[in-house]
Amino acid sequence: AEWTPEQGWHDARVVPYGPLQLDPATAVLHYAQEIFEGLKAYAWADGSVRVFRAEENAARLQRSAHRLALPELPQDWFLGSVDALVAADRAWVPEGGETSLYLRPFMFASEAFLGVRPSQHVTYCVIASPAGAYFPGGVKPVSIWLSTQYSRAGAGGTGAAKCGGNYAASLLPQQEAAQHGCQQVAFLDSTEQRWIEELGGMNLYFVQSDGSIVTPELSGSILEGITRESILTIARDLGHDVVERRVSIDEWREGTADGTITEVFACGTAAVVTPVGVLKWDGGEAVAGDGEAGKITMDVRSALVDLQYGRAEDRHGWMRRIPG
Ligand code: PMP
Repeated sequence: AEWTPEQGWHDARVVPYGPLQLDPATAVLHYAQEIFEGLKAYAWADGSVRVFRAEENAARLQRSAHRLALPELPQDWFLGSVDALVAADRAWVPEGGETSLYLRPFMFASEAFLGVRPSQHVTYCVIASPAGAYFPGGVKPVSIWLSTQYSRAGAGGTGAAKCGGNYAASLLPQQEAAQHGCQQVAFLDSTEQRWIEELGGMNLYFVQSDGSIVTPELSGSILEGITRESILTIARDLGHDVVERRVSIDEWREGTADGTITEVFACGTAAVVTPVGVLKWDGGEAVAGDGEAGKITMDVRSALVDLQYGRAEDRHGWMRRIPG
C-alpha cells in the first residue's frame, strides 16, 4: 500500500513476489526512515492458520511509525494485510515440527527527495517466508558476547522503535561477538554502561534461586519485545513471581557466580525462548548453573510454544485465526 498526505493510505494489493524499482534519490536510501515488524503464522492440527499476537505488532508498528515520523497505519490495515497475505500463501504455511510462516511487514520513505524532512510518499509492504525450526537438533544454549565499546541505542534515540537503523548500529558489535566465538551480542545502557538492555535480536530474563524471574525494565531504549511481554504473563501463569527492574552487569556476573541467578534465557519471535549458556567479555566469562538449558527456561518455552501450536488452551486470546 502507498501513502501520501493528500490520499492517505491507498492502493492495497497482493502481488507476486519481485523486486521494487527505486529512484536513486529515494529518501529511505539516504536517511533510513524505515520501520518493520516480525511475526509468525502457525498451521494448527485442526486445519486453521493462526497468527500470534498480531494486534501487538500493529501497536508496536504504530509506536515505531510515530518515532520515525512515518504515518500511522490503522490497525485494520495492518491486520488486513496479514490476513490477505497469509490467506494467499496458505499453501506455504509449513506443517509439522516447530515450523511457521514468517511475516515481515515494513514501511519506508519512498519519496525521491534529498532534503531532510519526513517523506511525503510512504510505502508499506509485507513479505512472507516459510521458516524452519530454530533448533532443528534440539534446544541449545546460546553464547553471548558483552559489548563494552558500543551501544545499540541511547537515551532519547530510536532504541524502542523497530527501525532498520538500530540494526545497522548493531551489526559491527554482532560481528565482534562472532569473532569471539559467540552467537549473540549483549548491550548495556549508553549512559552508565552498567544496566543490561538486551541482545542484538532478543530480550533477556534471569531466573533467581527463589524461583522468581527478573527482566530488565523498559528503559526507553530497548525493544519492547512481544515475546518478552508474553512471558510476563506465561511465567505468572506457571506460578512464578515476575519482576521488571534494572539489572546491572555486575548482578549478572556475581549472581551466576554465587548461585543467586540459576538460569538465564533470551526470548524473541525467531527462537521463542532460548537458554543462555556462557557470557563472555574482554578478560572473563560467567555461566549460570551448569550452562545447559534450565528447567524453568524449558517450562516457559514449552508453555509458549504449546500455545502457539494449539496444543495448549489459548487462555489469553493470543492466537488470531486467519479467515478462510
Ligand atoms: N530485541 C531486539 C533488538 C529484536 O530485534 C527483537 C526481535 N524482534 C527482540 C528484542 C524480541 O522482540 P519480539 O519478541 O517482538 O520478537
